[in-house]
Amino acid sequence: MKLLKILLACLFIATTLFAQDDRAEMLKKMDTHAAHYGDVSRQVWEFAEVGYKETRSSALLKQELQAAGFTVHDRIAEIPTAFSATWGSGKPVISILGEYDALPGLSQQAAKDSRAPIVTGGSGHGCGHNLLGTASLFAAITVKEYLQEHKMSGTIKFFGTPAEEGGGGKVYMSRAGAFNDSDVVLAWHPGDSNAAHMETSLANINAKFRFYGTPSHAAAAPDAGRSALDALMVMTYAVEMMREHIPETTRVHYIITSGGAAPNIVPDFAELYIYARHPDMPTLDGIWARIVKTAQAGALATETRMEMEVVNSVYNILPNLPLAQVVEKNLKRVGGIHYTPEEHAYAEALRKTWERATGTLPLGSETEIQPMATGHTSGSTDVGDVSWIVPTTEFNTATFVPGEPGHSWQNTSCANSTIGRKGMVNAAKVLALSAVDLLSDPKLVAAARADFEKRRAGNEYRSRVPADHKAPLNYRDKPAQE
Ligand SMILES: [Zn+2]
Ligand SMILES: [Zn+2]
Repeated sequence: MKLLKILLACLFIATTLFAQDDRAEMLKKMDTHAAHYGDVSRQVWEFAEVGYKETRSSALLKQELQAAGFTVHDRIAEIPTAFSATWGSGKPVISILGEYDALPGLSQQAAKDSRAPIVTGGSGHGCGHNLLGTASLFAAITVKEYLQEHKMSGTIKFFGTPAEEGGGGKVYMSRAGAFNDSDVVLAWHPGDSNAAHMETSLANINAKFRFYGTPSHAAAAPDAGRSALDALMVMTYAVEMMREHIPETTRVHYIITSGGAAPNIVPDFAELYIYARHPDMPTLDGIWARIVKTAQAGALATETRMEMEVVNSVYNILPNLPLAQVVEKNLKRVGGIHYTPEEHAYAEALRKTWERATGTLPLGSETEIQPMATGHTSGSTDVGDVSWIVPTTEFNTATFVPGEPGHSWQNTSCANSTIGRKGMVNAAKVLALSAVDLLSDPKLVAAARADFEKRRAGNEYRSRVPADHKAPLNYRDKPAQE
């Protein structure tokens, strides 16, 4: 009996070591493919397509996946640039999220330490989504090869998710049921450090409030007019008063997208685009109801008419401890980013271009793995919606220089540099290792599910975007009525 136990223990150690060797082999193979995927990320960076217009970017990624034998399911939720690509069969279904939308106005030359747009006012990858989509693609194809070589069952899925930057592609995909058959979703985001996450993000509801008044000559007959701009200004005043009386973790911000045509005409149309955010969706619901009242007050006070159109809403992220632990273990295995002397000089020069670093991390911290992040970030992401449907985790690798501000020309510059590509390869390795861990160990998938159920506490996913609302495919276009 004792001998049998020893034999079994030896067998267990041998298989574990063998599996570890296999994974080392997988990582080595990834290094040989790194240049190819670096090139894919460069192409997506050059396309620099904004939300829902990522035609060439999504086509390139689809083509890579199809060539690797994945089955592509196109036009999810009637969105031309949303798709899934599947390989394998049976459980578990492990999915990886990819994004590829650029930001308006952040065109910038690659690997350059001063502001130099390629196209003045053009779009650029100031959030590094060219790296995001490509690393996820790289990982999905690697996992497919691993499953194939080891004759393992299970399914690997890549989701092409457009318009993360304010268009909420994943919201519409979530509502269409795209993620319902996934057991786990893995996600990452380019960052200025290497870290797994247990932090949540801010739930967000945003809308356009439109006011309709009566036009009139502003000097000759002002009494005959009713100003839509006045209504808008009453609303913003009431919102400012409200700030004092909402939870401190709330964020409210707005722009005036239309404020009238000329000072000598009483404006008959005005439009406010407003965001409200809070780490907890039910709390945000209450704040949002009060914002709607400020708009109603504006219309009532000025004898104008108000219409509201919810543009988008995303959930806060529901973190998952077992998944974050798997990712952290693999981040430690892969390690940090190591600069060459040239990269170091570029990083130092880049750091001099921002007055206020967004983080406190010094140069050199890119070589380390930071402690698991907790609390909440000050941003929102449509990954939040997915995380309320499927156990999900997200992590960062240091594709950007430590302290680098988000949504910046510096990010666009880095996202097509060797620093960005090193971070991308590390992210792909962490994703692939984590997916293989999950595909090899049903207990891990079950633990992620149990944690998900506990944290969700019976709260079913219900998007705040009206049910009849389709994805705003033209949300990046200029408003028709200026
Ligand atoms: Zn972003
Ligand atoms: Zn982003």
